[in-house]
Amino acid sequence: MAGLDDVVVVNTCAVTAEAARQARQTIRRIKRERPDVPIVVTGCAAQAEPEQFAGMGQVDRVIGNEEKLSASSWLQTRAALESSSANKISVGDIMVVKRHTMHAIDGIERHTRAFMQVQNGCDHRCTFCIIPYGRGNSRSLPMNEVVAQARRLVERDYREVVLTGVDITSYGTNLPGTPRLGALVKRILKDIPELARLRLSSIDSVEADGDLLDALGDEPRLMPYLHLSLQAGADLILKRMKRRHSRSQVIAFCNQVRRLRPDVAFGADIIAGFPTETEDMFAGSLDLVDECGLSQLHVFPFSPRPGTPAARMPQLDRTIVKDRARRLREKGAAALCRYLNGEIGAQRRVLTERGGIGRTEQFTPVRLAAPVEAGAILDLTMRGHDGRQLLAA
Ligand code: SF4
Repeated sequence: MAGLDDVVVVNTCAVTAEAARQARQTIRRIKRERPDVPIVVTGCAAQAEPEQFAGMGQVDRVIGNEEKLSASSWLQTRAALESSSANKISVGDIMVVKRHTMHAIDGIERHTRAFMQVQNGCDHRCTFCIIPYGRGNSRSLPMNEVVAQARRLVERDYREVVLTGVDITSYGTNLPGTPRLGALVKRILKDIPELARLRLSSIDSVEADGDLLDALGDEPRLMPYLHLSLQAGADLILKRMKRRHSRSQVIAFCNQVRRLRPDVAFGADIIAGFPTETEDMFAGSLDLVDECGLSQLHVFPFSPRPGTPAARMPQLDRTIVKDRARRLREKGAAALCRYLNGEIGAQRRVLTERGGIGRTEQFTPVRLAAPVEAGAILDLTMRGHDGRQLLAA
């Protein structure tokens, strides 16, 4: 890489204050273990707080999220490392980046499923979130490029493609003609009939467009699992979070999708203990699990991220935050158990992975009765579960 053979690159995450703290801890540990090797720091925490990292004696260079994608900036990094007088920081204004230059393939999983990042950044400013300061504003990969990339994945035998992004329901806002996510989904499915399964990562329900709802109703190859960015169940908290939906809107959304696609399953991200959340308001988050029929919960105990508006709001006691997170997780575990109970006896189409497991169309993990080659799609009857995954007959 640009002649940088003996350099440690630390790619940081900024999503919580804890993630940034761990990055600093990692940098100190690496320097202790390898004192002679230069350390270059990049990623979202470095982008959002470059001076903090440049101020660490262990760090030789800080480069931004956009800069890390260009070969020339790594050549400059080599030159800067050779010159002790060079400025340590090479971090541009991520807010002016208009083009999505990330590599579209975000990851692969057990040779069956590929993740494609079709969008990056976010135009919203939720009061608890630091992500836009690390990733910049929303920008998307043009449809032609997405389709070409998905086609290459199918040619390499991937059975399932997952569309990912920071805010994928804002797909297309910066592209000519402003195509929406629904149009992209329809286009991929139409242009690549060999693609067995198309799946969406987390979505913002208020941004779901008409074509996306049509596709959920009409396209069996669009997988019936939606992970919703709900965050809270009380309108006042949603407002203080600067979310764009109300409680009643998400409940109506889930009901609408369920009418269009009766076999759909829902998951959600919910934050417990946001500043000013009362016990009544928290009860609204607990209720939402039943009202929306959620079966997968990702619970985040609120932790203030320095530099965000929510960090300046009146905070709840940590014990209350932790207790609410625990109660919400228990609620989630019970909802999952209820969902798995309802699956017993059902016949489900399972995409097999390595290691004797697979996933239903609703993304529920399945333990197979006998090992099967990865990448097969089988119709299997569910005979039970172990509280976490289904057991196939
Ligand atoms: S929509 Fe998501 S990424 Fe954007 S600011 Fe809100 S929480 Fe952060």
